[in-house]
Amino acid sequence: STCYNPDGVYRSPRPPVSFPTNPSLSMTTFLFRNAASYPERLAIADADSGETLTFAQLRSTVFSTAAGLQRIGISKGSVILIFAPNSIHFAVTFFAIVASGAIATTVNPLYTVSELTKQAKDSGAKFVFTVPQLWDKVKSLHLPTIFFGTKLPSEIATSDAPIHYFSDLISVPETEFFEPEIRQSDIAGLLYSSGTTGANKGVVLTHRNFICTSVMASGDQDLLGEPPNTFLCFLPLFHIFGLSVITYAQLQRGNSLVLMARFEMEAMLRSIEKYRVTYTFVVPPVMIALAKQAKAAKYDLSSLKLIGSGAAPLGKDVMEEVAKSFPTVQLVQGYGLTESCGIISLEYPQGKDRVYGSTGFLTVGIDGKVICVDTQKPLPPNQQGELCFRGPNIMQGYFNNPEATKLTLDSEGWLHTGDLGYFDEKGQLFVVDRIKELIKYKGFQVNLNAVIDILYAKFKLFPDVEAGEVPIAYVVRTANSSLTEAEVQKFIANQVASFKRLRKVTFVNSVPKSASGKILRRELIQKVRSSL
Ligand code: AMP
Repeated sequence: STCYNPDGVYRSPRPPVSFPTNPSLSMTTFLFRNAASYPERLAIADADSGETLTFAQLRSTVFSTAAGLQRIGISKGSVILIFAPNSIHFAVTFFAIVASGAIATTVNPLYTVSELTKQAKDSGAKFVFTVPQLWDKVKSLHLPTIFFGTKLPSEIATSDAPIHYFSDLISVPETEFFEPEIRQSDIAGLLYSSGTTGANKGVVLTHRNFICTSVMASGDQDLLGEPPNTFLCFLPLFHIFGLSVITYAQLQRGNSLVLMARFEMEAMLRSIEKYRVTYTFVVPPVMIALAKQAKAAKYDLSSLKLIGSGAAPLGKDVMEEVAKSFPTVQLVQGYGLTESCGIISLEYPQGKDRVYGSTGFLTVGIDGKVICVDTQKPLPPNQQGELCFRGPNIMQGYFNNPEATKLTLDSEGWLHTGDLGYFDEKGQLFVVDRIKELIKYKGFQVNLNAVIDILYAKFKLFPDVEAGEVPIAYVVRTANSSLTEAEVQKFIANQVASFKRLRKVTFVNSVPKSASGKILRRELIQKVRSSL
C-alpha cells in the first residue's frame, strides 16, 4: 500500500490517535496524568550520582522546585537558560520551568563564552541554571544564577549577580506553588538550531508541540502492548532528542529513565545490566562503537530489546554489523529535527522485509511532501527532493525572526527541512543528503556560516568514520601571506566549541563559484568524496 496521495502528500500509515484537545493543558499536567496509579515506580535514576526518584517523588520535587522558582521571582513567560550536563536535577528543572509557565532555553556546555552570550541575549534569558564547573563561562553573563551541586568555586562570593542554590529551591513546600493558567499554545522551550541557513535561531516550541511529540515518539510501544520500559539516556538533554523524544516522551508514558552525563562504553554496558534497561536511543557514533564492541559479552544485556538511532545519517553497513553483535535486539532508525520537536519518522520494530538505511515511516499525525528543488512541485515515490513536513509537533517559528520563519515555514504550514530524500512506494523515508549549510559532527550541529563569518574561509567536507562529518576549510590566502594551517585552526578554536574546530585547512588559489558569485559548496564536497 502506498502512503502517497493524489494531492502530493504522504500520510502516516500508523493507526490514527487523538491528540489532547483541551486548550488549557500544560506539559506537566499531561506528564503526571496517570502517575497516581504508579507512585512507587522508578521515574528517573541518575547513573552518575546514584540518586533516584519515583514518580510520586518526581512529581512533588518538580512542584517544590517550581514553587522555589516563583520565590526567586520567576513567573510566566520568563526565559531561563540551562547550561549543564545531564543530571536528575536538569530534568527536574526543565519540568519545573514549564510547570511555572516559564520558558527553557538550553545550551551545550561545550559552548564558548561568546556562543553562550549570544544565545542568552537572543533568548532574553533572565536566570541561569548551571554547575560550579561552568561558572567561569557563566559569570560573564551577569545573570542571577542557580547552582546544581554544592561544591562552589570560591570567587562566587564576589559575583555581582544574585546566586541561588538548587537545594534551596527544591526544599520549598510544594503547597506554596501557585499554578498559573497555561495553555497548550504557550511557549515551553527555545532550543537553538541554525535551520537551513544563517546564524543560530531560537526554535519556538509550545506545550502542545512537546505533548504531541511525546505521543508520536512513544506510540509504537502502546501498539505493541509493551509494559513500562526502562530507557537509558546519555544523549544530552540540551538537545531536542534527549529532552523531548527521550526524557519527556518516555516519562509521560510511565517509562523509567536512566540518565548519564556522557557516553562511555563500559559505563553504558554496566548501566544496562544494573538497571535492566530495555530501550536506548543513540546517535550514529555510538552505533559505530557498538558495531566494534567485543566487551559486550562480559555483561548481562539480556534485558535490552531495542536500540534506536537518530540525529544524523547512519550507514546501512553499521546497522548490519550491530545486528550481528546484538542478534536479539531490535535496531531502528529515526529522523527528526529541533524544528519538529525531535521527531518525524521512525522504523517499526524489525519486520520481515525491513530495509536497513531507511529512517522509517512517518509517525502518527505527520504529513510529508517531497518537493523538486527547482520547480517546488511535489514528487511521487522514489524521486528525490527537499523533504517538507506538517503536523502538531512542528515549531511555531524562529524566535523574534519573522524573516527566517517565512523562509522555513510556508503559508500552508509546511516545514522546509533543507534535507534531501525520498519515500519509497511503501512510504518508508530515506534521508539522502542536505541542501542546507549544516553538518553534523557526532550528532552536533556545526553551522558552517557561523564559522565562515569568523574566518571568511570557504569550506569543504569529508566524511569521518566516527564523527560522521568534520569541518575543514579551504582558505584563499592574500598575496605574500604566510598564514599557516595551525594559525587558522587556532583562530577558530579560540572562538567556537571544540566540536566545531577545523580538522584540516587547505590553501587554494580559488574556490569554485557560480555565475552569481555563490560558492559551489556541493561541488567541493563531491570532489572530496570522490577522492576518498
Ligand atoms: P537537529 O536539529 O540538531 O536535530 O538536526 C536536524 C538534522 O539532523 C536534520 O535536518 C538532518 O539533516 C539530520 N538528521 C537527523 N536524523 C537523521 C537521520 N536519521 N538521517 C540523516 N540525517 C538526520
